[in-house]
Amino acid sequence: MQLRIFFKTFPETTRCPSCSKIGTIRRSRTKNSFEAFVKFTRLANLYKCRECGWRGILKKYMVNKYSFITLFFYIVLVVSVAYVIRQVLLNNFGS
Ligand SMILES: [Zn+2]
Repeated sequence: MQLRIFFKTFPETTRCPSCSKIGTIRRSRTKNSFEAFVKFTRLANLYKCRECGWRGILKKYMVNKYSFITLFFYIVLVVSVAYVIRQVLLNNFGS
């Protein structure tokens, strides 16, 4: 059982979305406020390809099928804990 929902990706080692070459992707500086915002969220970053000049945003984190199972598990856990706490409070302090 794994407990993580997000898995870190390594865009520097993935294929270029444009020319499909490996190892040509490098981090790129932000050029406008939208790109600065993207960088600020820390969920994605700006990259560019040294070979073909492609420039764009790549996610730093990804989800897989286990993420949804884990997320569901967390939701069930939170709901059941909330229910138990509510019952305890009602039994002890409820009128
Ligand atoms: Zn490229």
